[in-house]
Amino acid sequence: MFGLIGHLTSLEHAQSVAEALGYPEYANQGLDFWCAAPPQIVDSFHVTSVTGQTIEGKYIESCFLPEMLLNRRIKAAIRKILNAMALAQKSNIQITALGGFSSIIFEEFNLKDNAQVRNVELEFERFTTGNTHTAYIICRQVEAGAKHLGLDLSQATVAVCGATGDIGSAVCRWLDQKNQVGELLLIARNRERLENLQAELGRGKIMELQEALPQADIIVWVASMPKGVEIEAATLKKPCLIIDGGYPKNLDSKIQSQGVHVLKGGIVEHSLDIDWQIMEIVNMDIPSRQMFACFAEAILLEFEGWHTNFSWGRNQITVAKMEQIGQASVKHGFQPLLAW
Ligand code: NDP
Repeated sequence: MFGLIGHLTSLEHAQSVAEALGYPEYANQGLDFWCAAPPQIVDSFHVTSVTGQTIEGKYIESCFLPEMLLNRRIKAAIRKILNAMALAQKSNIQITALGGFSSIIFEEFNLKDNAQVRNVELEFERFTTGNTHTAYIICRQVEAGAKHLGLDLSQATVAVCGATGDIGSAVCRWLDQKNQVGELLLIARNRERLENLQAELGRGKIMELQEALPQADIIVWVASMPKGVEIEAATLKKPCLIIDGGYPKNLDSKIQSQGVHVLKGGIVEHSLDIDWQIMEIVNMDIPSRQMFACFAEAILLEFEGWHTNFSWGRNQITVAKMEQIGQASVKHGFQPLLAW
């Protein structure tokens, strides 16, 4: 059995879906209540591969909300993730994906040092961040999107916002090694980490966001931001391809400008329907088939019997591991989302 640990995008979103999930007592509650709420298994379902294999999964709502980070409720955020992991383990789930902010909180606050959660000693090999599959899918979206727009990747300038992150650094490695992209613009706040990445890649220009965006043919947005940002479409190149890979989506609202094409990044579509409710609640366009690529990683690990923390730690994702999970993704019937 596989598990997915997820959370909603905002307090408002959480209040609106509580009722739909059968928890009316949560619907009118504020942040304090969500800080105290325990994790819940709210959905059980089956996924069938195009190979014919069927597996069982469970969705665990951690009750974490991005407002906890914005309002410095860090202890509550940490508790949410550890409690959700303990619940997954107690429920005998062999492999669970840490979706959205779960893996970021795990890494940022060194939760590997907190393995004891009451009477549960967390076995970290039962968990994966799902970031290898997410990075692979984003790269495939870059390749397909560029082709669609007639952009030659070997000549293109690609700006990666969140370049030093786990997903961002993996995307940079792939674009460098597999696509030999024309120019890589590296964007993040911490200068030292940017310089380390630049040294590892042996290339890439470190740039401020506002300076980089007007130069980019392709923008990969994978910063970990609890709230979206707005970008000025008028300053962008035309055509410009934007892959918005953040969760919640990093770009505030749909950019509507001729020549600017935004793809929802890190989303996959399965070839067969899945009997779950949860993707309806997170507003996927085709909820029975579409999902976050990190969740799909847990599904792939279960299909393949790879009960291991395939994606773990920070900035250790190799192109070879991306290719490995990518082959499993294709084999079991997943495709990168390419709808505009
Ligand atoms: P990390 O925490 O590893 O990396 C985040 C990156 O964003 C770092 O480079 C960080 O650098 C940068 N960053 C953070 N804030 C800012 C800012 N204000 N301006 C510029 N750069 C910034 O995160 P992950 O790589 O694990 O995840 C990245 C995003 O992908 C998240 O939004 C996450 O929720 C989403 N995600 C999506 C998945 C999917 O299935 N679609 C799966 C997993 C994650 P610095 O701090 O130096 O600025």
